[in-house]
Amino acid sequence: MLFVRFEFNPGSAKFDHSLPQSSPLLLHQLIKGISHLFYPHLCEGCNRQLVADEQVLCISCEMELPETRNYNIPENETGLRFAGRVPYQHAATYAYFTDEGLLQHLLHGLKYQGKKEIGTFLGRKFGQNLKTADWINDIDAIIPVPLHPDKLSKRGFNQSVLIAEGLAATTGLPIVNNVLQRTRNTESQTRKTRNERVENMAGAFKVADKQALTNKHILLIDDVLTTGATLEACAHALMQETDIRISIATIGIAV
Ligand SMILES: [Zn+2]
Repeated sequence: MLFVRFEFNPGSAKFDHSLPQSSPLLLHQLIKGISHLFYPHLCEGCNRQLVADEQVLCISCEMELPETRNYNIPENETGLRFAGRVPYQHAATYAYFTDEGLLQHLLHGLKYQGKKEIGTFLGRKFGQNLKTADWINDIDAIIPVPLHPDKLSKRGFNQSVLIAEGLAATTGLPIVNNVLQRTRNTESQTRKTRNERVENMAGAFKVADKQALTNKHILLIDDVLTTGATLEACAHALMQETDIRISIATIGIAV
C-alpha cells in the first residue's frame, strides 16, 4: 500500500514530503495517477479496465453496440414512427435499444446513476456517424428535448443536453437550449398506450423565443424513441409557433 502524507505548516508554507515544492503539476499528476490506481476507469459494458484512448466502453464492447446506421435511408424505422404525425425532414437513430441490451444498460447508468460521461460519449459516437449523412450540413442548430424544471433539479442534469453536447463537439453544430421549454411535468408514460401518451404530452412544451428559430432547420435530440409522443409534442410546439423545419435524432430506438 502506498501512502503519501501531506502536512501543511502555515508558518513555513512548506509541505512535509519529498515532492519538489514548486511543481503543482507533478503533484496533480501524482494524485491523478494514484486515484487511477485505486479507482481505475472500467468499461461500462464488461467491467474490464479501460486502456489508452478508450472511454466509457472498451473497443470490443463498442463494436457490439448495435448501430442502426439508418441516417441516409429516406424512410427508415426512426422516421416511420412519425409518419403522418410530424412532417419531418430527416430522422436518424444511433443504435437499437433492447431489454437488457448494452444500450439500455448505458442509458440506465446515464439517467439513474448520474454517469454523465455516458451521455457525451454516445453523442460523440452518434455525431461521428451523422457527419457522413448527406443532410447534416443543412442543419442550423441542435435542440435537446427539455426536461421540466422540477425534474431537472431532481436529476441535476438533462441527459439529452449531454448527448447534444457530444453531438455538437463532433459535428460543430450549435446547441439552442432554453428556447423550447417544458411547461408541464407530465405523469409517467410507461404504462400508457401510444394515443394516451400523445394526449398526455400535448401542450407540454412552449417556445420562449419565436424569432430565434424562424426559418431554421432544427435537429431535435432525445435519448430513446419508443412511441415518439414526446418528440411529436416538441415538434408540434415548434411548428405552431415558428416557421421551422425539423429533423429528428435519437440515441436509441426501442425494438
Ligand atoms: Zn467492455
